[in-house]
Amino acid sequence: MSVFCTTQTALSTWAQNIAPSPTLAVDAKAKALKAAGKDVCGFGAGEPDFDTPAFIKEACAQALANGQTKYTATPGIPPLRAAIAAAYNALGFAVADSQVVVSSGGKMSCYLAILATVSPGDEVIIPAPYWVSYPEMVKLAGGQPHFISTQDDVGFKVTPEQLREAITPKTRLLILNSPSNPTGAVYSRAELQALVDVALSAGLYILSDEIYERLLYDGQESLHPAIFSTAAAGRVITVSGFAKTYSMTGWRLGTLVASREIASAVADLQSQTTSNVTTFAQYGALAVYQKPAEAEAALAGMLAHFDRRRLRLLEGLNAIPGLRCFRSQGAFYLFPNIASFGLSSAEFCARLLEEELVAAVPGSAFGAEGYLRLSYATADATIEKGLERLARFCQKLRA
Ligand SMILES: *Cc1c(COP(=O)(O)O)cnc(C)c1O
Repeated sequence: MSVFCTTQTALSTWAQNIAPSPTLAVDAKAKALKAAGKDVCGFGAGEPDFDTPAFIKEACAQALANGQTKYTATPGIPPLRAAIAAAYNALGFAVADSQVVVSSGGKMSCYLAILATVSPGDEVIIPAPYWVSYPEMVKLAGGQPHFISTQDDVGFKVTPEQLREAITPKTRLLILNSPSNPTGAVYSRAELQALVDVALSAGLYILSDEIYERLLYDGQESLHPAIFSTAAAGRVITVSGFAKTYSMTGWRLGTLVASREIASAVADLQSQTTSNVTTFAQYGALAVYQKPAEAEAALAGMLAHFDRRRLRLLEGLNAIPGLRCFRSQGAFYLFPNIASFGLSSAEFCARLLEEELVAAVPGSAFGAEGYLRLSYATADATIEKGLERLARFCQKLRA
């Protein structure tokens, strides 16, 4: 028998335990139906439907033409780290350039933050509904996710009491994501402050995933737990990026700001894995800071579209008998409650796609049964058509 032949699986425990991304799976199925000529209304996408602003693409093309094609310092090119630090300083963070790490996407920034703080056996508190990748990343670090469940009737927000009860001697990290993917919920300053206080008094680290920090509606303000106090500055790891704000999902550019100790650990982890982010992509991102007026104008343009679609989809959903939708105030998702129809969210989504060609992601993917995630980063016409089909589907279920 060949030494290469084995009856046991050759896969590691990490590989066997990882669940593939359910949001990307829905997207793949919808794309396959579209490729087969079907008229699919896609609400599955987790990315803006706009092109990257031209001035950013031009800066990248220029860098490429100038020969910016070699390795850079692992944590990012110095002008980009300096620009990011300066932007945070303007918000009240007192950070040095050395506390900034640029990684291959906000997703990688989150993963490195978890790897830098979580040891095997440690517990990590994750409020649900949660972004699909957090539990898997915690498990890859050998940690144990501990979920706190929330529903639409409390605005999908965890209370300080719930947080206090969830903390054990093994708890190491709390993950916060406001504005939230998948619910679009946004914590107020007082609510966030109360959670941060509980976490800090228990000696926890906090991963604050602020990737949607600029996608806010209804007059909500951008909040940053790291600047709540000096204690917070030492324990909060702030993650953000360019993907959602400037429609740069494919560029793979994330940012992390933390204490010197954590930032340097993150840079070391990165130096042995992905190394630096694509060099010319970093120069594209730098343009955001060098041309702030153009960056703000591009963002404002996209936000106006998102807000209009949010309100239209929200109104349309709440007009469907049996369906109820929480008013999101950030990101580009709505998370309607479908519990009254008596189907699991997976079954609801599978039938909705099959019978009405509408793609949505089941709430179960985000640790919340009885809900759907609909992304309104899609054309107004798709929203209108999708609402009609969803209404027809719901009526059929109630008949
Ligand atoms: C999209 C997203 C990210 C990161 O996206 P990247 O494309 O990796 O920059 C991080 N957190 C949440 C909650 C997201 O939705």
